[in-house]
Amino acid sequence: MYAGHFAAGLALKAKAPKAPTWGILIGVGFLDLLFGPFVLLGLEQVSLTPGVSPGFSLDHIDWSHSLVMSLVWSGLFGALFLRWGRGVAAVMAVAAFSHFLLDLPMHPLDMALWPNSEVHLGFGLWRALPVGWWFVELVVVAAFGGYYLHRARRSDEFGRRPVLALLVVLLLHASNSPWLSVL
Ligand SMILES: [Zn+2]
Repeated sequence: MYAGHFAAGLALKAKAPKAPTWGILIGVGFLDLLFGPFVLLGLEQVSLTPGVSPGFSLDHIDWSHSLVMSLVWSGLFGALFLRWGRGVAAVMAVAAFSHFLLDLPMHPLDMALWPNSEVHLGFGLWRALPVGWWFVELVVVAAFGGYYLHRARRSDEFGRRPVLALLVVLLLHASNSPWLSVL
């Protein structure tokens, strides 16, 4: 998932307005932020699959995206925010782990239980629904975004421009459409 992660971040902000927005937004993308350097270091492997949705194959992402490592990274990411209080630290851990949960429906059996585990998870919507996955993610964006909008309108603690924030996420989602990416 891509824009869906950020929509989940907005929803988390709406649930926990005291948690810093920048922290939540880094948190929801944290596993992918690890994935980039891990590929460069050779710890993880990705290959391009032109014409086959979603255009790439995540051959080995056990260090950033396995269930156990996702829990470890989420715990560590949350711990970075302990000085904001336990509540905020917990929200940050949830933000980071939400990435694993939201990747799960899209990824085709490439999310290991732990590094080098034989067992891999993923419901594979990217492969099974080469166009439909985009609409599934749109529903996720709409659900989280709608919750954020609803809460932001009733609160003066956060989200002074909730429509704009949601629009940015929708634009991200539009830019990640299957009509653009699998050429
Ligand atoms: Zn990911």
